[in-house]
Amino acid sequence: MAFRIYCGALITDGQRYEHRALLVDKGQIVAWEPYDPITLSRVEPPDVDARSYFALPGMIDLHIHGGFGRDMMEGTPDAIQAIAKRLTRHGVTALLVTPLTAPWEAIRSCIRAAREVREHGSEGARVLGCHLEGPFINPKRAGAQPPEYIRPPSVREMETELGDLMSELRIVTLAPELEGGLELTRHLAGQGIIVSIGHSDATYEQTMLAIDNGARHATHTFNAMRSFQHRDPGLAGAVILHDELTAEIIWDNVHTHPATAQLLVKAKGVERVICVSDGTTGVGMPDGYTFELWGHRAVVQNNAARMVETGSLAGSTIAMDACLRHCAKMLGLEVASLLCAANPAHALGYDNELGTLRVGARADVILWNPCTDEVEYTYIDGVLQDFDSETAGDFISAPNTNL
Ligand SMILES: [Zn+2]
Repeated sequence: MAFRIYCGALITDGQRYEHRALLVDKGQIVAWEPYDPITLSRVEPPDVDARSYFALPGMIDLHIHGGFGRDMMEGTPDAIQAIAKRLTRHGVTALLVTPLTAPWEAIRSCIRAAREVREHGSEGARVLGCHLEGPFINPKRAGAQPPEYIRPPSVREMETELGDLMSELRIVTLAPELEGGLELTRHLAGQGIIVSIGHSDATYEQTMLAIDNGARHATHTFNAMRSFQHRDPGLAGAVILHDELTAEIIWDNVHTHPATAQLLVKAKGVERVICVSDGTTGVGMPDGYTFELWGHRAVVQNNAARMVETGSLAGSTIAMDACLRHCAKMLGLEVASLLCAANPAHALGYDNELGTLRVGARADVILWNPCTDEVEYTYIDGVLQDFDSETAGDFISAPNTNL
C-alpha cells in the first residue's frame, strides 16, 4: 500500500528541502510532494507524521566487523543477521560484511555466510557483499589484525583459497608495496573488485604505482598507514592529493582528530570521502566488555576498543550514526549524509538506488530527530524496522504511524 512520510525536511544529495512528503510505494520512493505546514493539520495512517523529523537516506557501512557482542567472523548467517538487524537502530540500511586477517577457512566461512544472507535477504540492513580486509597486508602496519595470519600477496593463493567466493568480494584491502601486491591489484581491479590500499606502509611513489595498477580506495585513512611528512608524503599524502582514490575515514573522534577528518574532506571534496564505522564486537557494549580478535583480547573503554597486549586501537565501538553526528557538527547534516550514504552508494555503483531519497530510489529512509541528534525510525524498502524485537541494548518505544 502506498503511503506518505510527511517530513520536516528532506536531506539528500547534499541539499535540504523543507516541508516535503515522500510518497512510498512497493518499497520505492515514487514522488516528492510539497505540503503547506500551516494548512496541513492531521496526518492519518497509513501516512506518517514525521513533521518534527528530518528524513535522510539510510546509511551504508562499507567496513564493519561486528557489533552488540557478535562477530561476523563467527561465520554463521545468524551472526550476520543479528548484527544487520541491530544496525537499523543506528540508521544503517546496507553494509559490506568485513572479514579480517585470519586463517583462510575462517575467512571462507564468513564470506559463505555473507553470501547466504545476501541471497536470502536480511531482516535488517541489506548485505551487499564483502569487504575483505587482509590477509595481504603489511606486518609493519598490522594495527589490530592478527599478525600470525598475514600473508604475502598472491593471486594464485587467493584464487585457490576463495574459488567461487571471489564473486562476493566488492572491496579488498591490501598493501600494494609488498612483493606481488601490484599484480594482485591489477588482477582484482580487472574483475571489478575495488582495491583499497590499507594496513600499508606504501610511500607516495609506491601509492602512485598502485593507482596506475587500478587501486581506487583507501582503508581508514590515516590509521594503519604510512603517515604524511613534508619530505615523505607517504600513502596518507597520496590519498589526500589524488582524486582516483576515495578515502574511508573512521569519524569517531578517537581514530582521528575532528580537525584531521575535516582537513581530509576539505582537501578531497565532499564527494570523495566515505565514513565507515570499522565497528567491532564491542559496538554498543559497555566499558570493560572484552572480546577476542583471533586469540588477541580487546577491551572497550571510553568509546574505544583497544588490544589488551599492545594498547593499539582494535577497530571502533561506534556505528554510522556517530559518524553522521560528528561530521554534521563540523560540516552540517547535508555534507554528513553524503559521507555516510551517497558516497558509499556511489563507490559501489548504486547511485540512483541507494544512498539517496531521489524518486526511483529504494525507500531506505531514516528519520533523524534534530533535537536529540538520534536516529529514531528506520525504513528499509518502505518497511518500518522494529527495534523492539532486538535482544539487547538501548531500546526506544514502539514505533507507530503517528510519530
Ligand atoms: Zn577493519
